[in-house]
Amino acid sequence: MSEQCGFCGAVYWKEEKNTAHKYTKCCHDGKVQLPAFPDAPELLKALLTENSPDAKNYRQRIREYNSAFSFTSMGAQIKRPRGTGPYCYRFHGQVYHRVSPLYASDQHKESYGQLYIFDSSEATEKRLSNNQNCLQHVFEKLDFMLREINPFAQSYLQIH
Ligand SMILES: [Zn+2]
Repeated sequence: MSEQCGFCGAVYWKEEKNTAHKYTKCCHDGKVQLPAFPDAPELLKALLTENSPDAKNYRQRIREYNSAFSFTSMGAQIKRPRGTGPYCYRFHGQVYHRVSPLYASDQHKESYGQLYIFDSSEATEKRLSNNQNCLQHVFEKLDFMLREINPFAQSYLQIH
């Protein structure tokens, strides 16, 4: 990617120019302008950049932390490619997000999304029981942050 849109700075491959020799897949010559991303929360910046034991644990186990705070799970019809070759994640049809019911029952096990209606310390205990290599106080800080800033976490609580 050596080329750049003169309006928004999006990067392109040379071969992506259209027949008028322009790059038009980003902002249509500056006609579309999106607001800048807001800054990441300080907690996430620290966990992603610092060298503290908490930050190292977070980066080593980032998938576990991410799953423990998820609201949905992904659904798709996974199709393995034929033959041999490099790893390839392939699915057929559409990808969808599964949202669990608000409350667990005999038919529906507890899910991480439901933890947003629990008391924060109880939610942390449940997350920790499924992710024992993660750190309790990191879970607590992340839980507090998400309850403060994430509209979906607030929606779960409001629906409850
Ligand atoms: Zn552009």
